[in-house]
Amino acid sequence: MSKSGKDLGLDRRIPRRDILHGFGATAALAGLGRSSTLLAADQPVAPLDADYYPPALAGLRGNHRGSWEAAHDLALENRQDWGPVQEPEDPYDLVVVGGGISGLSTAYFYLQKRPGSRVLILDNHDDFGGHARRNEFQLDGQTLIGHAGSQAFADPSRWSRETHRLLAELGIEPERFPDYYDSDFYARHGLTFGFFFDEASYGENRYVPLSTPWGHGPVGFRDPQIAPHRAVESFPLAPEARAQLAALYAMEQAEVDHRAAGLSAERLNRMSYLEFARDYLGVDHPEALGVIVPMPEAIETVGFDAQPVRYGSGYGLPVPAAVLQQRPVDSFVRHFPDGIATVSRQLVAQLFPSAVGSSADLHSGSAAVDDLMTARIDYSQLDRPDRTLKLRLNSTAVNVIHDDVPERSRQVLVTYFTNGRAYRARSGQVVLACYNMMIPHLCPTLPQAQRRAMYRLIKSPLVYSNVVLGNWHAVKAQGFGGAYCPGCLHSMAFVDFPTSIGRYRQPDDPDRPIILHLEWAPTNPGMSKADQNEGGHLRITMTPFREIERSVREQLAGLLGPGGFDPANDIAAMTVNRHPHGYAWTPDPVRGWDGEGPEPHLVARQPFHRIAIANSDAGARFTFDTAIDQAYRAVGELFA
Ligand SMILES: Cc1cc2nc3c(=O)[nH]c(=O)nc-3n(C[C@H](O)[C@H](O)[C@H](O)COP(=O)(O)OP(=O)(O)OC[C@H]3O[C@@H](n4cnc5c(N)ncnc54)[C@H](O)[C@@H]3O)c2cc1C
Repeated sequence: MSKSGKDLGLDRRIPRRDILHGFGATAALAGLGRSSTLLAADQPVAPLDADYYPPALAGLRGNHRGSWEAAHDLALENRQDWGPVQEPEDPYDLVVVGGGISGLSTAYFYLQKRPGSRVLILDNHDDFGGHARRNEFQLDGQTLIGHAGSQAFADPSRWSRETHRLLAELGIEPERFPDYYDSDFYARHGLTFGFFFDEASYGENRYVPLSTPWGHGPVGFRDPQIAPHRAVESFPLAPEARAQLAALYAMEQAEVDHRAAGLSAERLNRMSYLEFARDYLGVDHPEALGVIVPMPEAIETVGFDAQPVRYGSGYGLPVPAAVLQQRPVDSFVRHFPDGIATVSRQLVAQLFPSAVGSSADLHSGSAAVDDLMTARIDYSQLDRPDRTLKLRLNSTAVNVIHDDVPERSRQVLVTYFTNGRAYRARSGQVVLACYNMMIPHLCPTLPQAQRRAMYRLIKSPLVYSNVVLGNWHAVKAQGFGGAYCPGCLHSMAFVDFPTSIGRYRQPDDPDRPIILHLEWAPTNPGMSKADQNEGGHLRITMTPFREIERSVREQLAGLLGPGGFDPANDIAAMTVNRHPHGYAWTPDPVRGWDGEGPEPHLVARQPFHRIAIANSDAGARFTFDTAIDQAYRAVGELFA
């Protein structure tokens, strides 16, 4: 029986609907998060107030209200009239569009080459970091830190020399991650990994733990010693679906290879796992496929209908030896409490020392990372009239053009929209570290081929939701550590990574608050990955917070209810981080680019006279190190 809104606690006042301890988000959007002191004549916006602290905002975050409207007016409505444009500031040496890891790294590399330059970084959000931001919650005198996006530092062996060097300069030492991660946490508390079947989709709520290799999130769950083909017997499915899944999980490698005989590796790399399971492994019952298909959604942003065969192994499913992959299973140990947001915070700390100076007794090197974890960044220091380096939030670039025909130009004119007004900044050079798909709208004079290439770099949408529970007795009683949730909006849920660093301690006492982390990728099985991702952007943007909140409450009520969980009382706060423009377009790593002509990102990232192009899109790989590498390349082009 579905619960009423009251039973679920939808009427409860919790920090969720854009309420910030200190000021309301709507106030921030109206510019009230800014100092009320009179504007200097040469400053378009006043410095932010000292209590402006967006990481503590709950409710709908990520692409929050106020961040995307101007960009959509431009990209979807072709808005050109932004009202009177003021130009109050002296020219800059460099304007960077985008304050994510790539934009911040761009400013960092540029200032290393030319210290003291006048640099302006613009970002349309109320916080810096792009995908790499944090959520902070205060409850019962305790601070909880969660990751709002970028999750884990995968595979340092693939990082470039520049990424290694930058991280070293920021004091981030990959070899220290195992020290931060409490590898015994889940097992110590009896928390397992399994499948959760919800009542609305399966007729009853049931959590089924099982022993499975899960290389896509926290590690160290308690092994319930239940082989998957045995656990399947408890799945609330039709007997035939259960039998097919049991046979699939029990299948020996020799049998899989026998069934795949005649399929070349090339063919297997073009075939979806769904097709392989259905046509070669005998799994064709819709209820069985309904369990398998969504498994990779939260990581890959599409299900097994659009993921090649080899991906099955990472989810404990049988694949032919010809495409079996050995994945490093410990990648997700490399995680700060705020995921990769520590990189953006460390960059800001380096670029704006006064923003951290008063809030922590900062050390240098890796000790600074420990200190900064619990330090509060002073946003009022990011955009001050007396400084040469400025990070201007809540500011959307809407037009970027050379001041003359590009070959003869001496400056670039950057028009941006902030607090309902348009301003222009002049700059000797510009780096566009924003989504590359946005650039054709910003730079109408770009060559056609380059514009076309940019439109191909479709990003993958994702939503990361963090839910704070006042206590986690029900979590422990259920033995729930993490689960695939095939019928739910959020197809993945887990108790947040057990990571402690510096003064920040991951809760270890079930009486104290904890974060549950849930992930939703809006898919449309049966379509190509690109089409699913494009449709997903819109779906994420159009889904109201209230609908997501209800679905999260129902999911947790079903999952933890048998352990005594009461969604109306036990949920203390909720933040939904939506990333409609999430991961960068990444061609299949084995097949590579198989379209016509050169790879689109190589065409898209060509420098355009005084304008260079960064962002992870420009490297066609979704990882954070790509964002850094592309910043390094773009800055190199400016100095070439
Ligand atoms: C949910 C999620 C999980 C991830 N997990 C991982 C992970 O585990 N490991 C990993 O390595 N990587 C991960 N990534 C990818 C990683 O976060 C990115 O590669 C990296 O952060 C991208 O940085 P960026 O600066 O290139 O882009 P972004 O972070 O997107 O920053 C670009 C910024 O430019 C702004 N912008 C766009 N247009 C304009 C405009 N017109 N005016 C002003 N500003 C503009 C954007 O709003 C944004 O703030 C994840 C990404 C997401 C979304």
